[in-house]
Amino acid sequence: MKQSQADTNKMELTFISLPENERIGRTMAAAFAAMINPTLEELSDFKTAVSEAVTNAIIHAYPEGRGEIKMSLERKGREFTVIVSDEGKGMENVRKSMEPLYTTLPEQERSGMGFTFMEAFTDKLEVESRPGHGTIVRMTKKMGGE
Ligand code: ATP
Ligand code: MG
Repeated sequence: MKQSQADTNKMELTFISLPENERIGRTMAAAFAAMINPTLEELSDFKTAVSEAVTNAIIHAYPEGRGEIKMSLERKGREFTVIVSDEGKGMENVRKSMEPLYTTLPEQERSGMGFTFMEAFTDKLEVESRPGHGTIVRMTKKMGGE
């Protein structure tokens, strides 16, 4: 199908790192993606990936209090991009943080699988982080038909 302006959409949400806001972020991402009739599996995978990114920002970015988290959603045709960013503590070693089972909060029963799920449930995952400055997680996923 030919791409037109109608194939493009954009939305942004800024929220405080309160645990209860995870649900709102995840629900908004799902509603945004649902407009193109993705399969239930695609939608469920997308929600899981967004949920992991938002949960990370809520749990890890601001250990000493609350801070702002921004979620940007964009659609171009069947390709969705979601960016979850914070201005929190960041990561010293992004590659290590992304390894399966790596967690800095084992005492809170974290399993260190968030990034692994984000990678598995999207087509592309990019993470940028600067210690003391924050983290940007960018995921893209094609949904809705062949
Ligand atoms: P799980 O997601 O399985 O509950 P987890 O959150 O520890 O556990 P990942 O989501 O894979 O596992 O993240 C790995 C590690 O990366 C975290 O333990 C944390 O140290 C770091 N991290 C992830 N996101 C952020 C962030 N937004 N800011 C700072 N550190 C982060
Ligand atoms: Mg996590």
